[in-house]
Amino acid sequence: MQKFLQTRAVPVMVPMPADGPYSYAVPEGTAVEPGSIVRVPLGPRLVAGVVWDGEGGAVDPKKLRPIDHVFDCPVVPEEMRRFVDWVASYTLTPPGLVARMILRAPEAFDPEPWIEGLRKTANEPDRMTEARAKVLALADGGLTWTRSGLAHAAGVSSTVVEGLRAQGVLATEMIPPRPVVARPDPGFGKNLLSPDQRQAAAELCETVGNGGFAVTLIDGVTGSGKTEVYFEAVASAISAGKQVLILLPEIALTQAFLERFHDRFGARPAEWHSDLPPRMRERVWRQVAEGQVRVVAGARSALFLPFPELGLIVVDEEHDPAFKQEDRVFYNARDMVVVRARIGDFPVVLASATPSIETRVNADQGRYRRIVLPSRFANAALPDIRAIDLRRSAPARGSFLSPVLLEAIGSTIARGEQALLFLNRRGYAPLTLCRVCGHRFQCPSCSAWLVEHRFRGQLLCHHCGHHEARPEACPECGTFDHLVACGPGIERVAEETVALFPDARVIVLSSDMLGGVKRLRLELDAIAKGEADIVIGTQLVAKGHNFPNMTLVGVVDADLGLANGDPRAAERTFQLLSQVTGRAGRTGKKSIGLLQTFQPEHPVVRALVSGDAETFYQREIAERERGGLPPFGRLASIIVSAGTRGEAEEHARQLRRAAPQAADIAVLGPAEAPLALVAGRHRFRLLVHGERRSDMQGFLRAMLNAGPKPRRTVRVQVDVDPQSF
Ligand code: ADP
Ligand code: ZN
Repeated sequence: MQKFLQTRAVPVMVPMPADGPYSYAVPEGTAVEPGSIVRVPLGPRLVAGVVWDGEGGAVDPKKLRPIDHVFDCPVVPEEMRRFVDWVASYTLTPPGLVARMILRAPEAFDPEPWIEGLRKTANEPDRMTEARAKVLALADGGLTWTRSGLAHAAGVSSTVVEGLRAQGVLATEMIPPRPVVARPDPGFGKNLLSPDQRQAAAELCETVGNGGFAVTLIDGVTGSGKTEVYFEAVASAISAGKQVLILLPEIALTQAFLERFHDRFGARPAEWHSDLPPRMRERVWRQVAEGQVRVVAGARSALFLPFPELGLIVVDEEHDPAFKQEDRVFYNARDMVVVRARIGDFPVVLASATPSIETRVNADQGRYRRIVLPSRFANAALPDIRAIDLRRSAPARGSFLSPVLLEAIGSTIARGEQALLFLNRRGYAPLTLCRVCGHRFQCPSCSAWLVEHRFRGQLLCHHCGHHEARPEACPECGTFDHLVACGPGIERVAEETVALFPDARVIVLSSDMLGGVKRLRLELDAIAKGEADIVIGTQLVAKGHNFPNMTLVGVVDADLGLANGDPRAAERTFQLLSQVTGRAGRTGKKSIGLLQTFQPEHPVVRALVSGDAETFYQREIAERERGGLPPFGRLASIIVSAGTRGEAEEHARQLRRAAPQAADIAVLGPAEAPLALVAGRHRFRLLVHGERRSDMQGFLRAMLNAGPKPRRTVRVQVDVDPQSF
């Protein structure tokens, strides 16, 4: 016991699915504090972890292993540690797995190395040559150069530079690492705001200016200048010496945003997303931790950057499903932002043209402040939206574009303007079948049809990535040449478009295109510059882009997404179609949106056509309230998967039996999950439905603890506040 007290132990959160931190001994002469990033032994490996709060715990000192190394790195702030604990508890995720999201830039824990540079001294060279003169002319400016940079700029070989250094004409000097971005200047390029915008900005800054926790929703139609307005909040946070985080759903593809930020603040924000090169990632992480980076524009994972002075978070397109992560840690970044801000006691701005029902209800009930921007900026008008009733204006056989839409495309491109055809389905056709025996091509490991991708010559599963070549003959009956593609994907719409408009410049955009993000960026740029007449795309083109010459948006299948029985389907479809039709009419030109549909009377179609979003919202909200669905009630989904159907179902049943008695929470199921088979795993789902104030987490924890111990072959995934239910 005596000995134990002499060994100082601290809790260290390691990136492992453990229930909490592990204890480690602090070696003599080593200084650590809560938040220190350390390297510790874990089994046979060394891993990075964070010194956590509280006591080290009573551990047999003989078993206590020592901390191996303390990184020379800013500490993970206390707010961040509390946030990790909160997220872990809310999502029922082991805290180590949440903490791992902070530790995603391992090389950044060591300081960035200084670079060796060269600088001119007062010494003269023994003799002057032409090459030496060139070098010295450059070095005369008082700047420090890297060796290769100086040689390159002077157009000489590096031996010339080295010779000058050897003679002491140039002296080495260490250069600190360069900042990844310059400091934004809040007063740099402020636009003149319209009266509406000015009023909105004033209201916003009134809330944000106090600095304390508050959530404001900017609810403004596409093109109303929401960005312009929240930039004012960003400016005031920067002026107040705070760091700012702006979350965007598709930051890798909305590079124009960075330019716009630059125009306003004279410097770019630092970017954070999964397409960032690793080296850049590490530098951004480090410089955020050091407080050198003041503004980050990032994807949802940016929420786990170790900002020491965070004072404002903006979530643009707050309704977007991309903010929900459904992998390992199941969380909605939009909701976690609000928690993060409450912990840090600072304001949040949510912006959207079509707020989520959750956010809208929070605003209606007074928890959030709502600021409305009702019209587009300047002389831009919203597109005139009409439904094309496919029962009356049916496309020709084998075609997916109705005569009305075709005519609109023709006249749009004849005027030299751009048309966008939107279909949220990748590939050529969602189903391939044999006309002779009716055989359908299904994924061998998922309950899903294989989608034909004709450009690649493959049948592809969109759930597990399984692919096979499209055969000539039916594998079932052996008949040749009788396989037919059923239904459209964007490749098929592109094929039809090219055939009908042979002279038009057509660009097809979807996330599975060869060339990845780089290529997509170039294509988006080309579209914005007017280098395409017709654009055909999936939801990628819907988000945030500004295509000045686009005056027609045709939605190939407005019913897609309405049919899947999910209570959120109507909301989702309304948001997506508002956003995609909002790509049209960004300048003064008259623009239209055409929705091909078999159900022109559907509330979503009616809302889009009439422009009366309010009726739609009130109806959706009333329906949610009647059913006790979020945000009027609480939901969690538990997916149990296993290699066999029986094992998955049995485990789910036992789990259900383990549910505690509660008057305000009910467990529904198990039933086969909406995707009953994914990548060879059979899936059963339990839905847990509670009242608004129910202790959902307590209930789930009790159920999981009392339930069967998961065997290795069984996986249990808990999703609190699931996206679809
Ligand atoms: P939203 O975010 O609401 O869709 P944006 O902020 O992107 O709207 O504004 C739409 C377009 O109008 C952008 O091209 C933007 O540059 C322009 N714009 C909006 N407000 C102003 C303003 N006050 N001054 C100059 N341009 C503006
Ligand atoms: Zn599959």
